[in-house]
Amino acid sequence: MLNRASTANAQNTDLLYDLNEAFDRAARDNDVRVIILAANGKHFSSGHDVLEQNHHDNQDRREPVTPFQQHRRPGAEGRMSREEELYTGFCERWRNIPKITIAAVQGKCVSGGLLLCWPCDLIVASDDAQFQEVTVAMGVAGVEWFAHPWEMNPRKAKEMLLTGEPITAADALQLGMVNRVVPREQLQDSTLELARKISRQPTFAAKMVKQAVNGAQDAQGRPAAMQIAFALHHLAHSHWMEIYGLPVDPSGIHGSVKKNYDAGNEPFRAQPKKK
Ligand code: ZN
Repeated sequence: MLNRASTANAQNTDLLYDLNEAFDRAARDNDVRVIILAANGKHFSSGHDVLEQNHHDNQDRREPVTPFQQHRRPGAEGRMSREEELYTGFCERWRNIPKITIAAVQGKCVSGGLLLCWPCDLIVASDDAQFQEVTVAMGVAGVEWFAHPWEMNPRKAKEMLLTGEPITAADALQLGMVNRVVPREQLQDSTLELARKISRQPTFAAKMVKQAVNGAQDAQGRPAAMQIAFALHHLAHSHWMEIYGLPVDPSGIHGSVKKNYDAGNEPFRAQPKKK
């Protein structure tokens, strides 16, 4: 369970590392056949926690997961490395976990929130769920793990990104982005029912069929396309750093970023300490 309901499950460094460890524990446990990622509170996730302070210190306290540990390096090198660990690195690991994963999504799931449910194999949404991308208004070309053209058709992906308008649960079902839409009060039971059904299948066959479907996406060029999108994402971060000293455009519609900028906080700025 995501359990930062007071921030609408905003993802700070600890939440992401804790979640990664929980996925790993569940993957290693032979008694676990299906993993459910759900969220406490009204909303699934509001995205990256843009108000987190001392995020480099917070990362240093955690056990490294990927080889991308250059986050203390100055400039784009440090910023990119941090995101290669926490976003693209974690998302790829979670997508490839050798167990079936189901996300149960209610309320809002905004930008970075998509990086939690999209890597899961199946998504059950409550009828009040909304999936939204607000990064373009912040001057950035989509979130770090750019799965949009794989989660829906390219034209809808462009609409989602360019308008910033939420996709409702009903629309997400029609697009094939979620598997089921259920009333809010049935979200937990319906997700468990789906998980139980899948857990009766042989685990090895479930793993192989997951790898086969994921492999079909990868054969279509998904990893290379995502690498390009991630590079463009960092071109945008660097562009705004040059202009504002912030990795995003603070004049965008994202209120908390503007508030943070006006207050003089620079939560994403590289904080070089070690050479
Ligand atoms: Zn970023």
